[in-house]
Amino acid sequence: MRAKEEDILEIVHKARLIEQSIISPSTRWFRFESAGAALPFEPGQFYRLTLSDSEGEFERSYSFSQTDLVSSDRFFELIVSEVEGGRATEWLFNAELGAEVSLKGPYGRLLLPDPPAKKLLLVATSVGLAPFLPMLAQLRAGPSAVEHTMVHLRLGVRSPDEFIYQAYLQELKSACNWFDLSVYFSRQLPVKPQHWHHSGYVTKGLDQEPLDPIMDRALLCGNPMMVDDVYKILRSRGFGPRSVVREKYVFASETRASKVQSTSSADQALLKDKIARYAKGPKDNT
Ligand SMILES: Cc1cc2nc3c(=O)[nH]c(=O)nc-3n(C[C@H](O)[C@H](O)[C@H](O)COP(=O)(O)OP(=O)(O)OC[C@H]3O[C@@H](n4cnc5c(N)ncnc54)[C@H](O)[C@@H]3O)c2cc1C
Repeated sequence: MRAKEEDILEIVHKARLIEQSIISPSTRWFRFESAGAALPFEPGQFYRLTLSDSEGEFERSYSFSQTDLVSSDRFFELIVSEVEGGRATEWLFNAELGAEVSLKGPYGRLLLPDPPAKKLLLVATSVGLAPFLPMLAQLRAGPSAVEHTMVHLRLGVRSPDEFIYQAYLQELKSACNWFDLSVYFSRQLPVKPQHWHHSGYVTKGLDQEPLDPIMDRALLCGNPMMVDDVYKILRSRGFGPRSVVREKYVFASETRASKVQSTSSADQALLKDKIARYAKGPKDNT
């Protein structure tokens, strides 16, 4: 049964970092352990972490990405993309094992459809993959849940070295006939591309993909502009807001209070550059 948000959102959990690793040039993986009770969570949901640095406390949202849903719900994992000069990036990428965070949640409507869709389309760019990992693990664990469901993941990355969870997704693809994977490389294809590797963006060919707006469902996660572009195509295919759930990885509006004046033009330049790169060049999410 789904956790009732109103019952649990006020609880502040504490957790400490117990493991981390670099999983791509721009992405880190983190594993935390709750200092107390288990953390309620349904695959697809996110928590708000409160971090603390020399300028005080600040909050950032992160999707839980763990694929082990059985051994203990006192652990959670995050995959985090580096944002240059980002406050949480700085905190997380420099954190020592044992570092403590506070967190509240779970939040989010990006959940597996109930009842299952005939075809479930998952679209993500880069770390937008995070909420889909526990969902895929849940589908794999419960064969009845996928009885009538075909799941197609369209994942957008810049280059082969940014294809995170490659081994996990490839193994899932070979083991589960209900799972289909297409990866879109916006800047550079692998040296030996597979038939499910494509150059370009996750929107490529989406207007031709066999989809039924009545029976099928779509979940979109990651770069806000990608989410809008994909949603626009799905709308033109007859999908409505009830059959498409969108989670945009919008960044926090707050910046370092004491640096707002001095860095605002740099921040704007960074943002402009990201938007320009998305709009004209590689349309990925980081
Ligand atoms: C529901 C939700 C779930 C999320 N889940 C994840 C997740 O699982 N993994 C993950 O990596 N992130 C996730 N995010 C994004 C995350 O919350 C932070 O915004 C991100 O990590 C950047 O935080 P920061 O403190 O490092 O950067 P900030 O200090 O917030 O930003 C530094 C500067 O960079 C700009 N900036 C920040 N992010 C971007 C960006 N993406 N593109 C362009 N400019 C930017 C800011 O405007 C600011 O000027 C999620 C966001 C939401 C809303």
